[in-house]
Amino acid sequence: MHAIESADIRQAVRRTGWLAVLEALVPEALGPALRRPGRHVPCPVHGKARKNGRGDGFRLFPDADRTGGGICATCGAYPDGLALLQWLFGWSFPEALTQVGAVLGLTGAPARPLVPAFARTGTHRPHPMQAQKARHNLRRTWCESLPPSHPDAEPLCRYLAGRGLDAAVLNPRVVRFHPALAYWSRDAEDRPICLGRFPAMLALVSDANGRPVTLHRTYLQPDGRGKASVRSPKKLMAHPGTDALTGGAIRLFRAGASRHVALGVAEGIETALAVHAMTGMPVWACVSATLLKSFRPPVEIERIMIWADNDRSGAGQRAASALGERLGGSLDVHILLPPAPVPVNARGVDWADCWLMRQSGSAALSGA
Ligand SMILES: [Zn+2]
Repeated sequence: MHAIESADIRQAVRRTGWLAVLEALVPEALGPALRRPGRHVPCPVHGKARKNGRGDGFRLFPDADRTGGGICATCGAYPDGLALLQWLFGWSFPEALTQVGAVLGLTGAPARPLVPAFARTGTHRPHPMQAQKARHNLRRTWCESLPPSHPDAEPLCRYLAGRGLDAAVLNPRVVRFHPALAYWSRDAEDRPICLGRFPAMLALVSDANGRPVTLHRTYLQPDGRGKASVRSPKKLMAHPGTDALTGGAIRLFRAGASRHVALGVAEGIETALAVHAMTGMPVWACVSATLLKSFRPPVEIERIMIWADNDRSGAGQRAASALGERLGGSLDVHILLPPAPVPVNARGVDWADCWLMRQSGSAALSGA
């Protein structure tokens, strides 16, 4: 396929108009400006201007439908739509061309997987452009991913096999494989820096009502033999709203099919998959001790099994007890601690370790 040319884009935009393209790509953050081109509105990037009490510093040009351009008194002038999009999203020029091409149907992009409708905001609203960028990145990352059954998802299969989870049944609407996900960190001056691309397991994190909020990433070694050698191989993606995840979980399995079936909760994805392999019960992963503590089960659930981590620090046990105490008044709650002691050099032991020990029939713990 040929790379998309800017002349093709400009010609195609002449037919639809820039306002329609911007509306498709930046509906929320540019909303007020799009409704009234030429009039001043809060800047989608820096917000309200406070200088001189003169209010809002951004406007689209009156002829923005033809040019796509706009200007912020603080941030600068952007003569056309491609420049405007590069500024708004931090895109490169080719990236802006590709995104506009996709909106116009010019790129023969392959059929996209069903993309979750990521939540727009939490209670504490971040800046609209930040929220817009976060949702854009979530959708893009999801679109770049493959179902775990795809032949190219081999590193994910090998990673799970290494944890004794080769038989795990993964719901492709919750767990995905990304062949080359960028790992970002910060340099000495606190600027974002990409440290490389790794295969990764993606998992959809939903809020307490089951609405998709963000993606959890597990960066893997290129061959899938373990996690990537980076500082934080497990990370959440940025998402709109700081408290949107409270009560949420990675809903790995369908729950609530029968009143008599308990719902299990654990911290890690691997732990949840291991407990499911051991017991057959639906188990959700809450990502961290903090989120486990805040977990809110769906109303139809009557029994909860908390598959706690046994941490040397006690954090996992404390989170499980706090959750058990909060839910115990209204639900039938059980807390289950791994039967194995914490190995000498490990920070803790979880049900995934116990499962692996049982699978490999040895007392050797990976400590991972
Ligand atoms: Zn600005």
